[in-house]
Amino acid sequence: MDVLRDPNGLDFDRLGGEMHALAREAYPICRSITGDGVRRTLDLLRRHVDLEVREVASGTEVFDWTVPAEWNIRAAWVKNPRGERVIDFSRHSLHVLSYSVPVHRKMPLAELREHLFTLPEQPDLVPYRTSYYQERWGFCLEHRVLEGLEEGEYEVKIDSTLEPGHLTWGELFLPGESEQTVLLSAHVCHPSLANDNLSGIAVCTFLAKLLAEAKRRYSYRFLFIPGTIGSITWLAGNGEQARQVRHGLVAANLGDAGAFHYKRSRRGDAEIDRAVARVLADSGEPHEIEDFLPFGYDERQYCSPGFDLAVGSLTRTPWGRYPQYHTSADDLDLVRPEHLATSLERYLGVVRVLESNRRYRNLQPHCEPQLGKRGLYPSIGGAAGQRKQLALLWVLNQSDGEHSLLDIAERSAMSYGEILEAAQALREAGLLEPA
Ligand code: ZN
Repeated sequence: MDVLRDPNGLDFDRLGGEMHALAREAYPICRSITGDGVRRTLDLLRRHVDLEVREVASGTEVFDWTVPAEWNIRAAWVKNPRGERVIDFSRHSLHVLSYSVPVHRKMPLAELREHLFTLPEQPDLVPYRTSYYQERWGFCLEHRVLEGLEEGEYEVKIDSTLEPGHLTWGELFLPGESEQTVLLSAHVCHPSLANDNLSGIAVCTFLAKLLAEAKRRYSYRFLFIPGTIGSITWLAGNGEQARQVRHGLVAANLGDAGAFHYKRSRRGDAEIDRAVARVLADSGEPHEIEDFLPFGYDERQYCSPGFDLAVGSLTRTPWGRYPQYHTSADDLDLVRPEHLATSLERYLGVVRVLESNRRYRNLQPHCEPQLGKRGLYPSIGGAAGQRKQLALLWVLNQSDGEHSLLDIAERSAMSYGEILEAAQALREAGLLEPA
């Protein structure tokens, strides 16, 4: 089955369950912008798709940045004066400040407190904190646990390394008829956080799995990269490939129950911006479309003025706008199989629009051709039949070689599916040819 041509026949319930299972496997892994957590995550993805794992050495200059030292961690804990482990990284990867330098010593509570991060407003949750570019160590914990810590001497151990190594990412290129490329990018640098990280990874992995089997007009490049420094590193080393990107999406926050949000590319009116808007409108579900903002995920780099790629970001609830964001509550209960499934369906819907959107030329442009004698006059009566007829007439009227199917869907306020179906029927009847 070709998922790009046949919109039915995919079992999204099953796919939702499989994506959730992938997120569940990857959830405990302590990912960061470098290190074995990223490699182990990519190994899991390689069971589904034939990813290439690529690396660049620490110290490499990438535009205005430098690839950092590689961070790895084996253990981290804090023992109270009675020798009990009151904080333990082995229980949750969020407990350690990401990129913490090694430490092993004893100190009074007052000194330890300077290295502890909590959320007083959400006292039962563990926050997510990083310190990539300043050498520090620290722990993250529930505010309620912090309040219960007794005075006395604590033993602190972080068994980590921060040494020259590599930055790692996963890349999958699926060649199509054209070298023009659709870019799909997900960040892989967050530790045990399900919506902000694993949902985008899972949806992109399964989209890649479906597209690998399809007959593709465009080429597709999937990037599973550490946020910011990963996309900067990729763009610095792949200028030629970046220039082939015609459309792109940054995927994240795709597993919660919230409505879809689309953040436009810097261009604002690129084909990807219009295709996503159309797919969301056609879904009939509530959704929001927002303008570009030079903040957020890796669209910041893809849309920097030197590249200005047509890359937007399609999410459910955007980052920072749900209470579980960057806390231990962004877990596998927040992310549900059915939400992942609908997200995959929307991404596939966008790809279908991009693949099929073209300009056609009406071969009988002088007055309306007779639909009845070509078997195109709708056999069903009533409103449904009238809509089918209207779609045929719109496509015939607008197909002067200048207007794409997406243009016609927008102008007619009909769904893209209706317009596409009409165009296919007209082609089969010999009334249209690609412009
Ligand atoms: Zn994040």
